[in-house]
Amino acid sequence: MDPLIIQDHYEIDYRHSYAEDSPFFVALTKGKLLGSRCTACGYTYATPRSHCMECGAPTSWHELPLAGRVHTYTTCHYGGELFLKETPFTLILVEFDGADTLFLSRLKGAEPEAVRIGMPVVARFAKTPSFKVTDVWFEPA
Ligand SMILES: [Zn+2]
Repeated sequence: MDPLIIQDHYEIDYRHSYAEDSPFFVALTKGKLLGSRCTACGYTYATPRSHCMECGAPTSWHELPLAGRVHTYTTCHYGGELFLKETPFTLILVEFDGADTLFLSRLKGAEPEAVRIGMPVVARFAKTPSFKVTDVWFEPA
């Protein structure tokens, strides 16, 4: 028997908290990227992280540079609801001077076939923030 497939509609409103990650999203509204740095060993994350995965110590917020380089990339022909209108789009992992980990974001303003590893990129921020990951993206520098 073939699987039974039906079409249905699903829509809800909901509230949720960013909890300890809230400063990251507020910083996006000010045109800043916040990572986190270990207070003990100095390991620097390009993302919010409350504790160091290297040594377990707490981290503090650390302002990242707004320019970086493409570490790797992929072209997405399908995505979550927030990104469906943008497909196909390019996802990149950005490397920053002074950070030990990478930052996942979208690359706009470059055709997928023009993207290269090591390509300089710069962060851009939504003029009307929504406190979502779509508030930041990168463009070729
Ligand atoms: Zn550490």
